[in-house]
Amino acid sequence: MANTKGQIGVTTENIFPVIKQFLYSDHEIFLRELVANAVDAEQKLKAMASTGSFKGETGDLKVKIELDEKKKTLQIIDNGIGMTADEVDRYINQIAFSSAGEFLEKYKDQTNIIGHFGLGFYSAFMVAKKVTIDTLSWQEGAKAVKWTCDGSPEFSMGESKKEDRGTTVTLYLDDDSAQEFGTKGKIRSLLEKYCKFMPVPVVFGKKTEWKDGKSVETDEDDIINNIDPIWTKAPSELKDEDYIKFYKALYPKEEDPMFWIHLNVDYPFTLTGVLYFPKIKERMAIDKNKIQLYCNQMFVTDHVDNIVPEFLTLLHGVIDSPDIPLNVSRSYLQSDANVKKISTYITKKVADRLEEIFKEQRSQYEEKWDNIKLFIEYGMLSDEKFCERAMNFALFKNTDGKYFAFEDYRKAIEGSQTDKDKKTVYLYATDTDSQYSSIEAAKNMGYDVLLMDCELDSHFVNMLEQKLKDARFARVDSDTADNLIPKEEKVKPQMSDDDKKALEELFKTALPEGNDYHVEPENLGADAAPVVLTQSEFMRRWREMSALGGGMNFYGSMPEAYDVKVNMENPVIARIWADREGTKELLRQVVDLALLGKGMLKGKALSDFIARSEKLLG
Ligand code: ADP
Repeated sequence: MANTKGQIGVTTENIFPVIKQFLYSDHEIFLRELVANAVDAEQKLKAMASTGSFKGETGDLKVKIELDEKKKTLQIIDNGIGMTADEVDRYINQIAFSSAGEFLEKYKDQTNIIGHFGLGFYSAFMVAKKVTIDTLSWQEGAKAVKWTCDGSPEFSMGESKKEDRGTTVTLYLDDDSAQEFGTKGKIRSLLEKYCKFMPVPVVFGKKTEWKDGKSVETDEDDIINNIDPIWTKAPSELKDEDYIKFYKALYPKEEDPMFWIHLNVDYPFTLTGVLYFPKIKERMAIDKNKIQLYCNQMFVTDHVDNIVPEFLTLLHGVIDSPDIPLNVSRSYLQSDANVKKISTYITKKVADRLEEIFKEQRSQYEEKWDNIKLFIEYGMLSDEKFCERAMNFALFKNTDGKYFAFEDYRKAIEGSQTDKDKKTVYLYATDTDSQYSSIEAAKNMGYDVLLMDCELDSHFVNMLEQKLKDARFARVDSDTADNLIPKEEKVKPQMSDDDKKALEELFKTALPEGNDYHVEPENLGADAAPVVLTQSEFMRRWREMSALGGGMNFYGSMPEAYDVKVNMENPVIARIWADREGTKELLRQVVDLALLGKGMLKGKALSDFIARSEKLLG
């Protein structure tokens, strides 16, 4: 074959510096692109062998990576289908170049182009000053071809000495890239990142073993990848151990996962994968971006934020889909119809699986609830469709540690916890220690108290109030026990405005400074506590939500506001009210008792209280 020279058909004067600049942040993907091409070539041969159009010996199909640290060359060697001179001309000189040209034309105004698109073979020029291809096609009588390009738009093509079928791509690394990629350690880490699950063995050197105190090479190929990861298998072939083992291989530091979901769909798009619910160690320290996205077993990214709904980015695992467009910008991804379908599908699958566990393994589900509650509440708050589904399998936990499905809970409390306005009142505590006395008081009334101690619960409670029909939520300490669920209108004490004002001023002299108090005379019965401190449900919720970042900082910066309910029917209050000058200590004592019940009596105030109690006890 006569040597030929030619000009690559691109309009850009010199495409390579542009490629380099474009992909600056993601140079390392060159290796994935080249290994993926090699893997493709092997797969094509395998397919041809299975249909009978290739009748020869396929041999041991594998891709080899060889680095010569001294010469600064990196080779990607396959024994796949190879290319004829004509094919090199068609696939490498024309098609790839023109599509790269088109690509650059289209995206040249975008500076922060995403890293993962298939620029394919030409990404080699991000790291190499010269690239050669030596290739021998599987076709009978084919001649080996050598293609060389030194980074200018000119290439040369001629005969190659290659004798065995397949393709060897040789990169002559430029100085910067030799620094960055020219060590075995670096190449290995890239192969492990991008090629860990490619479907054909990828070999990098030989396995080593310890002999006489040093590591020596054995004859055995060191295969980087697992060619049939579990997501490529049918769920019926897999046991729990297989899923857990795979999880441990992906996340060696994590504890065993709670549940997993095997995704498998081939219409209207192709998607496989396994998603895991991780065990959360610290609630606020959940790692996002633990889901890895693959395309035909080729690693693409671990940033799946635009592909799975936001709340599911808390999950771990793997998604593999050739239908997720990779060579596009992020904003485009969000509006892509396929991506939307995929996101909806994943949400549905997660809901299906949770519902299945809820129905079929209820006790296990309850055991794991505390751990998965955050995902589910987050999902319900952020995704309308998921919320609708989750209303059927989300649980309430009460302060006795019992779990209830929403519907069952309503049935259980409806009788005793419906107020005069026909609203079912859901009582909840956020902390069983500091709200202990209020919880006990409510239980003594025959009420049930839920535990809502999760970061998201104040938002969640707001949402449930809108979702559940005729329902209201009240924190157990937001009022006196018998006022929490008013069954009938209470008769308020008859007092003039002046007297009310005087009562307020009197009590404020005994209340600690810094908070806002609203003093209110009440008839709570002779046996009930003299003074009860409550915090309005509404104000408290807004304050908590603004602390979480709900954007309502006005409430967050207001002083704490309390309602001080003075029980005019209590005999001690009657004494204090009748003899205001002579009962100053008694007044302090009843106020301190109310503060104590709220855990608000501390330091000097607490020791004063103890001293006064001893004195009063005489
Ligand atoms: P893409 O892989 O996206 O088609 P590339 O620029 O990477 O784009 O490659 C262009 C074409 O060159 C491939 O489609 C394939 O036909 C051919 N090719 C590249 N590498 C190899 C290889 N190692 N063996 C056989 N053919 C190859």
